[in-house]
Amino acid sequence: MTLHDVATAAGVFRAGGTDLMSRAPGGPYVDLHGVPELGGITWRPDGSAVIGALTTVADLARDVRLRAAYPALALTAAGLATPQIREAGTLGGNLLQRNRCAYYRSPAFSCHQDGGDSCPARDGLTLYATVVDSGPCVAPHPSSLAMTLLGYDATAEVYGRGELEVAGLYDDDPTRDHRLARGEILVSVRMPPPTPGERAAYHRAIARSEAEWPLVEAAARLVVADDAIVFAAVTVGGVARTPLRLPEVESALLAGESLAEAAGRAEARCAPQAQTGYKVALLTGTILHVLEAAVEGEKVAA
Ligand SMILES: Cc1cc2nc3c(=O)[nH]c(=O)nc-3n(C[C@H](O)[C@H](O)[C@H](O)COP(=O)(O)OP(=O)(O)OC[C@H]3O[C@@H](n4cnc5c(N)ncnc54)[C@H](O)[C@@H]3O)c2cc1C
Ligand code: SF4
Repeated sequence: MTLHDVATAAGVFRAGGTDLMSRAPGGPYVDLHGVPELGGITWRPDGSAVIGALTTVADLARDVRLRAAYPALALTAAGLATPQIREAGTLGGNLLQRNRCAYYRSPAFSCHQDGGDSCPARDGLTLYATVVDSGPCVAPHPSSLAMTLLGYDATAEVYGRGELEVAGLYDDDPTRDHRLARGEILVSVRMPPPTPGERAAYHRAIARSEAEWPLVEAAARLVVADDAIVFAAVTVGGVARTPLRLPEVESALLAGESLAEAAGRAEARCAPQAQTGYKVALLTGTILHVLEAAVEGEKVAA
């Protein structure tokens, strides 16, 4: 099958099916397996990787060359979902999965995300909702990989649209979780050349021991030279409608502020829902955790 065959087929794309089949939006389904462009990891002469959309989350975690080149991505992939989901779930499906709001996923409710004109969550259970308020929908973005890819300035190749930043896949529009239209295929993710000396960490605060999306998660990429941070990329998830990169934290680190002071800079973004006040301290604490872990971590040869 070619990309054109798939793009023009009538139906809903299915990769690993782990998100799609839990929502069961109704077929027909168009299986993306068998399209050569969507598979595999290729390396360009500058040392950067192009990762096919059908690459499984498990392969992102265990591919030896990817782990060395992009440690924050590998750590994030290794830490999400369950071993079974990581074997079946794909990079493309992870970036384009739908949010986990219980109201959106219940047939008993209608909301902005499924054609309605209200948000029942705002006046209901907001325990798992956003703490950064950016509009009518308060469901956090679910993709851990998207969060970490923001810190790499990765780009996405989309059939029918071209190359765009991974950050450009998302916005605060309350009617959707990503900006791809029906029929647009995420072909691959393009990584930058590896950063020599990168130290990376990923951490999640989670409501049960496993098999759950995080309440708050964070990834850090740092380069340390002569006891100073000379490069920083810090991203967080579970807190806003989109995954977030935190330039205010990064510039504080580069200016020599303490790790705790830099982590605390994220607090200014917070505007909790009725039940998400706890996420303010959880956010700054999770950022501090990844900063400390990255500073103390071993250098990754790239
Ligand atoms: C218990 C549990 C815990 C989880 N925890 C986490 C977590 O902590 N963090 C996290 O990020 N995820 C988590 N997940 C989600 C999991 O990672 C995703 O379900 C999985 O990555 C989706 O990949 P898939 O290939 O199965 O996608 P599918 O279910 O096949 O597709 C998902 C959506 O993307 C579309 N799609 C898929 N591929 C393409 C493509 N190439 N182009 C265009 N559209 C496409 C499909 O049409 C569908 O709408 C969890 C899942 C479970 C069940
Ligand atoms: S938070 Fe978003 S997904 Fe949940 S009910 Fe409100 S609009 Fe729908």
